[in-house]
Amino acid sequence: MLKLHNTLSGAEEEFHPLEEGVVRFYTCGPTVYDYAHVGNFRTFVFQDLLRRYLEYLNYQVAHVMNITDVDDKTIQNARKQGISLKEYTAKYTKDFLDDCKKLRIELPQIMPKATEHIPEMVALIQKLEEKGYTYRKDGSVYFKISQFPGYGKLSKTDFSGAQTGASVDSDKYDKENARDFVLWKAKKEGEDFWETEIGPGRPGWHIECSAMSMKYLGETFDIHCGGVDLIFPHHENEIAQSECATGKPFVRFWVHPEFLIVEGEKMSKSLGNFYTLRDLLSQHHAPESIRYLLLSVHYRKQLNFTADGLRQAQASIQRLEDFILRAQEKAMPGPASPDFEQEVNSARERFKEAMDDDLNTSAALAVIFEFVRSTYQKDSQNAFGGGDARLALEFINEVDRVLNIIRPKSELLDEEIAAQIEARQEARHRRDFAEADRIRNWLLSKGILLEDTREGVRWKRSS
Ligand SMILES: [Zn+2]
Repeated sequence: MLKLHNTLSGAEEEFHPLEEGVVRFYTCGPTVYDYAHVGNFRTFVFQDLLRRYLEYLNYQVAHVMNITDVDDKTIQNARKQGISLKEYTAKYTKDFLDDCKKLRIELPQIMPKATEHIPEMVALIQKLEEKGYTYRKDGSVYFKISQFPGYGKLSKTDFSGAQTGASVDSDKYDKENARDFVLWKAKKEGEDFWETEIGPGRPGWHIECSAMSMKYLGETFDIHCGGVDLIFPHHENEIAQSECATGKPFVRFWVHPEFLIVEGEKMSKSLGNFYTLRDLLSQHHAPESIRYLLLSVHYRKQLNFTADGLRQAQASIQRLEDFILRAQEKAMPGPASPDFEQEVNSARERFKEAMDDDLNTSAALAVIFEFVRSTYQKDSQNAFGGGDARLALEFINEVDRVLNIIRPKSELLDEEIAAQIEARQEARHRRDFAEADRIRNWLLSKGILLEDTREGVRWKRSS
């Protein structure tokens, strides 16, 4: 039975969806004002893992993730570049989707854009106005937090002493500065706005997620996910708006992956350790190593993202791929030995046990590598038959449906091959021939043959 840590109750709870067999799952998507960084991708990779595990458990998952394509930053940046908001956000939306693809993240079935759901947001604000949860000031509409007794239940904060009548216009602020937050921002000179029944203006960030999640998943749905930094104020405000509008519980399970630090330090642009995916790829790290490292630590623990960790991740994937090659060599149709079948069943049980325990990925990976180790041992004792090898392959493929770290050869991108070739040339220049050979062999294992010519290095794909 799957257990998930629910931020709302502060405890691990058995997960059962509202409707049998179907999970309604909402994740806060990117604000498309710049490239997403590796900390953001920890959250997105985790969400992908959660969805895949739910599907592994035979749930049908309805996954919705919004694209925030209007907010203070996107408007400012578009103006600075002298292009329309739509043009500006289209670029970063596309880059985000490209990055997801490289990290082998399966895209949600529905990815609504905020700018295409203004009528839904206006309707929700009107509903809150009718029920007396709002007030207007200079053309903007604010939510009165003192009207909602449950305010603070997600972030476990007592806001009863909050100053009444003071309001905040920015979308991000800390708990100490909790105020009545903005639902609708009045039109400002030079900013994008919409003419609507509640006046000209644009939505606040929080109302976007309430309107779009309820539109596609219903007034109460199963899981809402986002980084821990979104608990307050974003998710707290989503609960307030939604529950006051509908009178029903909004979300049953709130799941929040922790932060990531880089080489032991908080990631920041000033420290020079702020990495986007393209930064890491240009440093010759393979995308599946990045995915592996991001999911190898339990999501509620802080993850220290290091170059060393990436190298270990690559070595771990290589170990699995070598094992697959060995099993492919030996595999034959026909049954496995009863002993080996039992071993696979036991490994599967332990894998599920680890994943059921609030998605304990580090324990789940340990089960897989223990299975690989003991199978190699059998192989060395000539106790690994053709049927056993076939079953071993099936098992690795089965767990990889959840982890998605083994990449078919043909998926290696041209730009990654070029980056690896460049890294090999650099290694040769500094006379690190061991590293140069390692890269050559790694490419070979991916089906890429290198040829050193006078004009430079050429490569081709082996069939
Ligand atoms: Zn959101």
